[in-house]
Formats: sequence, C-alpha cells, structure tokens
Amino acid sequence: ASLYKIDGWGDPYFSVNASGNVAVRPHGEATLPHQEIDLTKVVKKATEAKGSGGLGLQLPLIVRFPDVLKNRVESLQGAFDFAIESQGYESHYQGVYPVKCNQDRFIVEDVVEFGLRYRFGLEAGSKAELLLAMSCLCKGSPDGFLICNGYKDAEYVSLALVARRLELNTVIVLEQEEEIELVVDISRKIGVRPVIGMRAKLRTKHAGHFGSTSGEKGKFGLTTAQVLRVAKRLETEGMLGCLQLLHFHIGSQIPSTALLADGVGEAAQIYCELVRLGAGMRVIDVGGGLGVDYDGSRSPNSDNSVGYGVQEYAAAVVQAIRLACDRKFVKHPIICSESGRALISHHSVLIFEAVSATKGASPAVPPLEFFMESLAEDARSDYFNIRAAAIREDYEMCMLYANQLKNRCVDQFKEGSLGLEHLASVDSLCELLGKATGSLDQVRTYHVNLSVFTSVPDFWGIGQQFPIVPIHKLDQRPMVKGILSDLTCDSDGKIDKFITGESSLMLHELEGGGGGGGGYYLGMFLGGAYQEALGGMHNLFGGPSVVRVAQSDGPHGFAVTRAVQGVSCGEVLRAMQHEPEMMFETLRHRAEECGGGDCAAALVGGLARSFHNMPYLSATNTAAAAMFVGCG
Ligand code: PLP
Repeated sequence: ASLYKIDGWGDPYFSVNASGNVAVRPHGEATLPHQEIDLTKVVKKATEAKGSGGLGLQLPLIVRFPDVLKNRVESLQGAFDFAIESQGYESHYQGVYPVKCNQDRFIVEDVVEFGLRYRFGLEAGSKAELLLAMSCLCKGSPDGFLICNGYKDAEYVSLALVARRLELNTVIVLEQEEEIELVVDISRKIGVRPVIGMRAKLRTKHAGHFGSTSGEKGKFGLTTAQVLRVAKRLETEGMLGCLQLLHFHIGSQIPSTALLADGVGEAAQIYCELVRLGAGMRVIDVGGGLGVDYDGSRSPNSDNSVGYGVQEYAAAVVQAIRLACDRKFVKHPIICSESGRALISHHSVLIFEAVSATKGASPAVPPLEFFMESLAEDARSDYFNIRAAAIREDYEMCMLYANQLKNRCVDQFKEGSLGLEHLASVDSLCELLGKATGSLDQVRTYHVNLSVFTSVPDFWGIGQQFPIVPIHKLDQRPMVKGILSDLTCDSDGKIDKFITGESSLMLHELEGGGGGGGGYYLGMFLGGAYQEALGGMHNLFGGPSVVRVAQSDGPHGFAVTRAVQGVSCGEVLRAMQHEPEMMFETLRHRAEECGGGDCAAALVGGLARSFHNMPYLSATNTAAAAMFVGCG
C-alpha cells in the first residue's frame, strides 16, 4: 500500500485488506470492518459469465459506489455546518452540484436524492445541462438552487425563466454584461420576475494550471465597471431587488486556503458593495475549486494535490465572508458552493486489465562468433574491445564499445552486408551486457485493455495524474517497473507519469496469456469527475461497462444495483454517422453471395455478434470468432 501511497490519496475510502486486495470503505470513516467491499470480488461478479453467476460484462469497467457519493455530500455539508456553528455565522450553507463534472443520469439523481435534506441543488452551464437540471430538481428540495451559469442566448434565458415559473429556485447568473438585456426583455415578455446573479471577475489569481482563466484578464465574468453598470441598469428598470446572488470561480483545484481566503474576501467586499447600492443580495456563491488530493501529498505546490481538506476549506470560506460582512455590518449571506471534483471523484473506480507485457531482458548468450568474418574490421575490433573491457570489469567502456558495435552493424545491415540473424545477435549481446552492467533501462511496457483518450483524457490533454494501482496481489512485492500502453495506435496512448513522481509504476509479473485475458487488474482511482464527459472515441473505442455497487449485509457484502454493458461497436459507429443496420445488411448480402448455405448463416451470425460486442479486447467473447471457423 505504501508503494502506491494509498494511505495518502485513498483515505478514508480505499485501503488494502488481508488478502492483498483493494478494499472499498463505502461509508468512509464510519465504515465497519464487515462493511468493507473487496474490489476484486466486484470485478469477478461483473465479468464472470452469466451462466457462472456473473453478469457477463466486458472490461474496461467503471465501478460506482453511490454510498461513497452520499458520504461526500454529507462530509461537505458537515464541514460547512461545523464551520458555521463554530464561528457563530448567522446563515446557512446550501451547495449545488455542477453537472458538467459528470452528467451521468444516476450520478445527478443520486446527488439530488442524497442532498434533499440539505437543500442541495444543481448548476448548469448549457441549455442541455439546464434541461437535465430542471427535470432532476423536480424531485429535489424545493429550496435547492438551480444556478444557471455559462454563456446565454434568448432560448437559454427563456428556459431559465420557465424553470422559475415551474417553482424551481432558479438564479440566472450573468456571465457577460449583454445578457442583462435578454433577461430584462424576456422576463417582461414571459411575465416572470427573475432572480439574477452576477459572476464577478476577481483580481485574485490562481497560479496553477486550472487558474489560467482567473484574474483580471480572465476569460469569464464581469469587471468592476460592468458590475456597476448592471446594477445601475437594473435600478433604472426597477429590478435591483432581483439581483440577489454574487458568484465567482477562481478555478479548479485551488491550491491553498490562503489563496481561497484571498479570493473569497475580495468577492465578499463586492457583495457588501452591492448591498450598499441597494441590490436584494442574499447569496454568495463561491464557485468550484475545492481540490482533490490525487497524489496524497497534501501539497499546495502541485496540480495533483492541494494543501487542505474539506474542513479547512469550509472554515476558510466562512471566515472570509464573516469578516468582510461584519466589518460592513452586512447581514451574513447564504453560502453556496459549486464543488464538483471534490464531490464525485472518489465514488468511481475504473478497472482495466493488463493483457500482455514486453519481455524482460533475458536474452540467450548470442553466438556472435558465427558471423565474425561478415563483420567489418572496425566492428570486429569493437567486439574484441568489449571482451577485454569485460575482463577488466570496466563496464562503462564495455557499453561504449557495445553501442559502437551496434551502430556499425546497423550501418552494415542497411548496406546489405549483414543479415537479420546477425542484427538480432548484436541486439541480444547489447541487451545482455546492458542487463549485466545495470545500464539498461529495464522499464517494461504493459499493454492495457483501455483507451487513454476515452477514459483518462485529462492525462493526455493536461498531464493530470490519477492514482493507478493493481487491485490485487498487494501482499506480494511487485518486481517490474512498467509503463502502461493502451489499445489505440497512437503514441500518446500511454501512461508514463504516476502520482509517485516516477515515470514508471511497480507492477507484478503477468501470469496469463495474451488475447485479452492477462488476469492482472489495475484500478484508476479518483477519476469520477470530468473524465467521462471529456473522453473521446479515438480508434472507435467507446465508453466502458458500468456497474453500481451498494454496500449490503448479504453474503458478499455488496449488491450490484445496476449493470450496463459498455458501448458496442454498432453504437460507436452510429456516433460517427454510420448506420450499423445498413452496414450489417450490406455485409449480409455479400456473405450470402460469397458463402452460401450454412456457411453464410454462420458468417451472418458472427457479424451480428461483432456489431453487438464492445470494441475492446476480450478473452471471453469468443462466440463471434467461433462462428467464423470453417467458413474459409
Ligand atoms: N463552477 C464553475 C463555474 C466552473 O467553471 C467549474 C469548473 O471548472 C466548477 C464550478 C467546478 O469546479 P470543481 O470541479 O473544481 O469543484
């Protein structure tokens, strides 16, 4: 566990059990020992054939733990409740979940359900997200906010006003100054009095990767002059009372509470000024940014970590608002936050399999003598120099001559004076010497049944690192340094940076054969936010299978409450405008022309299965291949 720093990033949800498997603690600290879920057992249940009591799902697999999500909602609420109580703050906290982090229906529905007693709401940033939030909040708390962020057109504003008409607690947050005209105009036409918020562009700048759009020159929000103009405009329209919320968002992964307090303090001053100008202010919305400690270091100096926990975050927010408001004798506002990453990252684990690995350096002693006479003079003297240096135990010179020999042999091969066997012998000799002298980079490549572009886009796009750990064998010391190479034919489709700070990961030897059945399972943790919505379809690898797993007191300690096979070949093709049914028909005709009789039926059956199966490697989906046997 210490090798993978599980105690740091995994606490309180992930640990290693006595069998050497990753155990999930679904209720965090409140989890009793018998409630721990062995992740390997979940994978077994999900992937074993239906006839053997499994669900027959193909990897990769996302395992979601709604209990963890519930615990995150409760922890966030608990942290604010505690800060509010202990600091004598005279209002309350009411969070919203920004659906952009993961719009999966069941995640959003879970957040709404778990947040019902806390008046939890949703945040939307586009028209599609707004429709989703509107329908989900019909089952939520009537007080829960529906925060409408993002750039808006007339249709967006109209929808938001309709949401108010439907008695959802909707706030239209102005992202640009011009949006005020749409709101004033459309609200009159529809006859709905809006509740308006403004997104302020703060001077406080977050220096990390995620803060590149913050600060005075940031992409989003209204400048001080624009804030004033909007307030004046609303006053002229007799609508200043509609302006009730001030929002800002410094950026995701805010590194320290010092920076947080600085930003919140600045926003709280703007809030107080708007109160002075006569706006109907009630709410301060501190945006997202509550960080996740991906590498477990608790360091404010890394994009993969932050220097605080949920408790400290809440305490800093409450204190900064309280101090600013008390100084100006302003009534304490309701505090809203749009924490996304911190809410949902932990509850999803992505499981994938290593299907093969490059071989370790264990070459046979190369019979180099047999082609000595084919070697050019200088290459031959390199060979004798290698032997002499080896006898002197001068390993540095040994490798120097070996590399020289290799380069000369490659030149000779290109000229045509050496054969493939010769070149292979030289390669083996160099590999052997490298291993013997310890100068060979012994990092091996593990081929994993995954697409980095589909499932870990933030690693590819912005170099973000997630904890990756074998989910079993953790009672055996891993002896191989490896990098992970995915299924796509793209040099970027690899993971070679890890939260340990190393460019390789310690892994175990593979036992199984290739072809999709390596039997060595790895988990990528804390990837519940952003990865699914950002993921692409490079090489037409679609989304993984998904199971939802709840803690239960039954014999296995868990129950799978929902299981969905990942995106099929037919579905990914459809997403690129192909029509799988027509494609199948075309192939069926061709098969009937070419095959005839039983053979055509087998070809057609096999093709149908291939459209239905996922594009990832599979050792168990052998039915399609079996149907083609004998049709040659
Ligand atoms: N609110 C806004 C306006 C955002 O742009 C974002 C994401 O960047 C969030 C909330 C969620 O941020 P986080 O996931 O860091 O909590």
